[in-house]
Amino acid sequence: MFLRLGRLVLLVALVGAVVASPVRAQEPPKPELARVQEETVGWLADLLRINTTNPPGNELAAAKYLAGILEKEGIQAEVLEVAPGRGVVIARLRSSPVPDPSRALLLLGHMDVVGVLKEKWSVDPFGGVIKDGYLYGRGAIDDKGMVIANLAAVVALKRAGVRLDRDIIYLADADEEQGGDSSIKLIINKYWDKIAAGFAINEGGRVMVKNGKVQYVGIQASEKVPVNVSLIANGTSGHGSMPRADNPVVHLAAAVAKIGAYQLPARPNTIVRRYFEQLSKIEDSDTAKWMRALEQPERADHAARWLSEASPMWNSMLRDSIAPTMLRGGIRANVVPSEARATLNIRLLPGDTIDALLADLTKLVNDPQIRFEIEPDAGMPAPPSSIENELYRTMERVSLQAFPGAIVLPFLSTGATDSAQLRLHNVEAYGLFPFPLTEEDAQRLHADDERIPLDSFRKGIDFLYRVVEEFARAR
Ligand SMILES: [Zn+2]
Repeated sequence: MFLRLGRLVLLVALVGAVVASPVRAQEPPKPELARVQEETVGWLADLLRINTTNPPGNELAAAKYLAGILEKEGIQAEVLEVAPGRGVVIARLRSSPVPDPSRALLLLGHMDVVGVLKEKWSVDPFGGVIKDGYLYGRGAIDDKGMVIANLAAVVALKRAGVRLDRDIIYLADADEEQGGDSSIKLIINKYWDKIAAGFAINEGGRVMVKNGKVQYVGIQASEKVPVNVSLIANGTSGHGSMPRADNPVVHLAAAVAKIGAYQLPARPNTIVRRYFEQLSKIEDSDTAKWMRALEQPERADHAARWLSEASPMWNSMLRDSIAPTMLRGGIRANVVPSEARATLNIRLLPGDTIDALLADLTKLVNDPQIRFEIEPDAGMPAPPSSIENELYRTMERVSLQAFPGAIVLPFLSTGATDSAQLRLHNVEAYGLFPFPLTEEDAQRLHADDERIPLDSFRKGIDFLYRVVEEFARAR
């Protein structure tokens, strides 16, 4: 998956043609990484050629491929066949002298990909094709690029013999796109001891490039909790020629209209406030003014309203949100049904409860013919990861070194990722997607002609390596 961080408006109007030039780091790549970096493009191309479209996934072949690379480097890798044809690979770099799981860092990526409309692609989506400085393929961004960046970090640390003071665990998992029985949930439930860690880096972040320059590094530190609720109206069924006042279609429609127009109060949490505070540094002056006003008690309400109108994503970051997404009722044109249903896709801020929200909605709808039913697929309320701890500060520091002039902002994602499962197990998990991408390239995720610029790929590998090495190297 992938998260857009919303629109960004440049402060400075750039004069003349701006060439989308490669993003340069201030420092040359770490020597221990240089040789690994040369091999990574081949690894990613190979991995893209292994079709892991989910369903069915077939991640086992990819897991074996990655394990082969690790084993060749003298890193013991374990391939677990979690379901027929579906595998995950786990490896570990050990620290000395006594490994402490609560200090360990988990590097996570998923090998499965979403499907393709082959005829819409300009190249074979499973061909590992390089063209005009891009590596094309389904999964190039989501998430095989990350799987290889994690691998590169582990291999480079091993080759360089870097002494670690915390274990680094490599996990390439399966079934992220469907979240089924082979996903991170299963690994946590069945194999927790193999991946137990206090910290994790996962997909879900963003290094945003605009006009050839990195604007910001977005680090996902929390996410909203998805809950689906059925809204059910009951009434008397009968002939359409003799309508009654208790027609459930009418009652449902009225309830959906009320809920659709209802806005819960804005309650920005620590991460959201820091996000706006940081973003205000690069936004246009009007937007920046309202972002800062969020911190001023007497202007906060107006600011929240302004920001919510400016961006649906900002609106959702500020409050619990409710989107009616499905309607069902009736079987024939001339039959009044006895039941009609709607689905509400609700996204709670971490810490809020669905029961409190439904009590609100019951009052709002105020109709005895309507009832609410919570669907069993609700997400678990994961606590946010800290934006004060050593890993967050390391990511922040390395980001500023790697991308001079950029800002670093934590964010609450409105969509869900695997990191929630980790946070529920006391892991400080972060979405740090290391590759600098333009909006245009980021938009290709899950879309046609997904591709990664080779220059960004190398840059991202270097960036991630620096974060991992800085965080885990023994002093
Ligand atoms: Zn993904």
